[in-house]
Amino acid sequence: MSRDITALIDKLELQHTLSLEEYAALVQGRTPDAMRDIAARAQHIRRDVYGTAVYVRGLIEFTNLCKNNCLYCGIRRSNHHCDRYRLTTDEILACCASGYELGFRTFVLQGGEDGYWSDEILCRLVMQIRTLYPDCAITLSVGERSRESYQRLYEAGASRYLLRHETADKAHYEKLHPAEMSFDNRMRCLQDLKEIGYQVGCGFMVGSPWQTPETLAEDLKFIEEFSPDMCGIGPFIPHKDTPLGDHPAGTLDETLWLLSIIRLMLPHVLLPATTALGTIHPKGREMGILAGANVVMPNLSPVSVRKKYELYDNKICTGDEAAECRACLAGRMKSIGYELTTDRGDVRRN
Ligand code: SAH
Repeated sequence: MSRDITALIDKLELQHTLSLEEYAALVQGRTPDAMRDIAARAQHIRRDVYGTAVYVRGLIEFTNLCKNNCLYCGIRRSNHHCDRYRLTTDEILACCASGYELGFRTFVLQGGEDGYWSDEILCRLVMQIRTLYPDCAITLSVGERSRESYQRLYEAGASRYLLRHETADKAHYEKLHPAEMSFDNRMRCLQDLKEIGYQVGCGFMVGSPWQTPETLAEDLKFIEEFSPDMCGIGPFIPHKDTPLGDHPAGTLDETLWLLSIIRLMLPHVLLPATTALGTIHPKGREMGILAGANVVMPNLSPVSVRKKYELYDNKICTGDEAAECRACLAGRMKSIGYELTTDRGDVRRN
């Protein structure tokens, strides 16, 4: 392992900040030895803050209708092969009920940007969940909305919001999205969410088309400065019915490397070992935890719709009931010396 890379890892661990040039050098400095070294440090830091508890979030993919046309995404509006669905309020509440029964204390409502869910209708749903499960956290992941909308949803009882920035490089963002979407609006949303008081998650895909060490350095700098409570990163995986369907997937090693870098940068961040990571390697999520991640997000959606929420090809866990997903993940975590925890898992800042 080169001395330069060890010096950069030391500096990041001690100071939690690097320059853009240093981040780019670190991104490019990955070797098997350096991966082992940074993962050991990341695990150590994560254990100091969160112990060996792995937080679970029950993911409810409640609609795959979407007005957007992100070039990488399988549920983009121009994908006419996508079989569209929208869960009813009762179906969503049934997912929460079975999740609660299984010990989940965080519900993540994720979906495409489906115009049916006006502020009024979505606020009503959030309030219903809030009333039925006062001890649970409600996380929303429904894309770009107005500040006023975010404010209303917060007041209705949502306290966390996931909105990946996708890439912090504006020119790169414009290659991954159609002209009608705006990098500046995405960033505005993230600022608004934070100012309103949400626990906010940003993030990006590893190995997305046209990503470079320099764009990744910008991602890392953005994450350092924005200091999110959560950060979702997982490999880009092509979806055959999208314009980027012929591009190669991101790699396991690069994703693990970046997870460890983010743990060193933000010791308190909630960092999921994502389903995409579990899709590119059978033990991807375990390896993600061992690289410094501390969250898993099993699926609570009804099995009948699972396959339809296909952001990318070959997504795992589309055939299992929620109880099976939870038991499977509990076993996977136990096999590496960690345990699933049922508490709300709020971010620990001190
Ligand atoms: N519409 C919502 C949430 C749904 S998409 C939103 O915009 O936030 C959730 C995340 O899935 C996206 O932010 C993106 O980073 C990821 N994703 C989409 N297509 C993907 C692909 N082909 N491979 C890997 N991740 C993908």
